[in-house]
Amino acid sequence: MSRAVHVVGAGVAGLVAALALARAGRAVTLHEAAPVAGGRCRALPDGTDNGTHALMGANRAALRFLADIGAAEGWIEPEPAGLPVLDLADGAARRIAASPLAWRDPALRPPGLTAAGFLALLGMALPFTDKPVAEVLAKHPALLRGFVEPLTVAALNTPVAEASSARLGQVLRRLGGAGAARLLVAREGLGPNLVTPALAALQAAGVAIRFGSRLRAMTQADGRIAALHLGEDSLAVTEGDAVLLALPPWEAARLITGLKVPERHAPILNLHFAIDGVGPVRFLGLVGGLAQWVLVRPSGVSVTVSAADDESEEPVDTLAPRAWAEIRRAAAAFALPGAWPEAPPPCHAVKERRATPRHAVGFPPLAPRRPMRNLALAGDWTWPGLPATIEAAALSGEAATKVLLRLGPTA
Ligand SMILES: Cc1cc2nc3c(=O)[nH]c(=O)nc-3n(C[C@H](O)[C@H](O)[C@H](O)COP(=O)(O)OP(=O)(O)OC[C@H]3O[C@@H](n4cnc5c(N)ncnc54)[C@H](O)[C@@H]3O)c2cc1C
Repeated sequence: MSRAVHVVGAGVAGLVAALALARAGRAVTLHEAAPVAGGRCRALPDGTDNGTHALMGANRAALRFLADIGAAEGWIEPEPAGLPVLDLADGAARRIAASPLAWRDPALRPPGLTAAGFLALLGMALPFTDKPVAEVLAKHPALLRGFVEPLTVAALNTPVAEASSARLGQVLRRLGGAGAARLLVAREGLGPNLVTPALAALQAAGVAIRFGSRLRAMTQADGRIAALHLGEDSLAVTEGDAVLLALPPWEAARLITGLKVPERHAPILNLHFAIDGVGPVRFLGLVGGLAQWVLVRPSGVSVTVSAADDESEEPVDTLAPRAWAEIRRAAAAFALPGAWPEAPPPCHAVKERRATPRHAVGFPPLAPRRPMRNLALAGDWTWPGLPATIEAAALSGEAATKVLLRLGPTA
């Protein structure tokens, strides 16, 4: 009989691990506390995403997973000619390439990029020190405002005054390769372009999926997990079987005594405007206002505000008109087709209060990949080489799978 693995948590890390383990011949059960899969990267009941999720061409593990579940085609590059960015302070509308390779064309360079500024970026990409990003770029305010701050807030979900330059360096280093800086978004949404195909692939691979199955506690004996207490049930974990926890840090810390995890988190706010007749899919950046990124899809317009410490306390009644006025300016600046009425369309806000750990200066605690003989850990926060992202989650799921597949028959 094939050895059983209980994967707990159906976010990206758990989905990646469950699929790989099942395809390697393990009898996999996936336990998820919520009624839906996707975790922090999920579709809401009304079909909108909990928040806009973007991938880069450099995110190889995430793209590998999308290919594995047959969903790669659903992720498209809305701005192949460079990211349109509007500075709300002076009205400057430009296209900026995220890839340094494209900066040979002066039209695609970040504003304020000088030789010294380029060296400062290079210094962060090859880090020997770790300082707040704002401090490293203090002598290059235009470059900071127009390029580095939007990138930092998007990738690290942390304000530049506290964000770690070494963590940003992990991102910058990956942008250099050919195609690495291509920005991709889900054409229709996280449901149709990620979660639904992932669940179909898991089912086809024989994974048993249990929703509403919250891991309350684990029984340990002789340095291994002996039982899982899920919802009302308790499950024995017999010799040779294994457990893979793909949980957010606060849940992992609750379940494993003494586990050190990141404790400070940052919120992300998304505003979803219900409006028809816009599109095709576009992705615009805004500087100097409330909205940071605007995703336009034929089904609606979504605004992302990362590191939203203050904004996530503000009511939607005041957020929506502020963001909509900015969106209209961006739509005009980049001549987006469609009617952009003056009055804000119906809007709902999604406030993810613990969207990611804060990536402040200093390294977070290093999570053990296999804290016990038959227990492996995954989750975005367990991957030290990247900030907490889909890519980190996918890489952690792959790594935890490898660890379990290497276990001997008497695990
Ligand atoms: C609004 C927002 C926007 C983002 N934008 C981007 C982006 O553009 N690009 C990017 O790369 N990343 C982005 N991220 C980060 C990305 O979503 C996460 O890094 C990634 O989804 C984390 O996946 P995970 O599997 O590690 O954890 P999670 O998604 O947190 O999955 C953990 C799962 O475990 C379940 N669970 C929790 N406790 C239990 C329990 N006791 N028993 C059973 N199940 C349990 C949860 O319900 C959840 O489904 C964003 C995040 C948010 C919130």
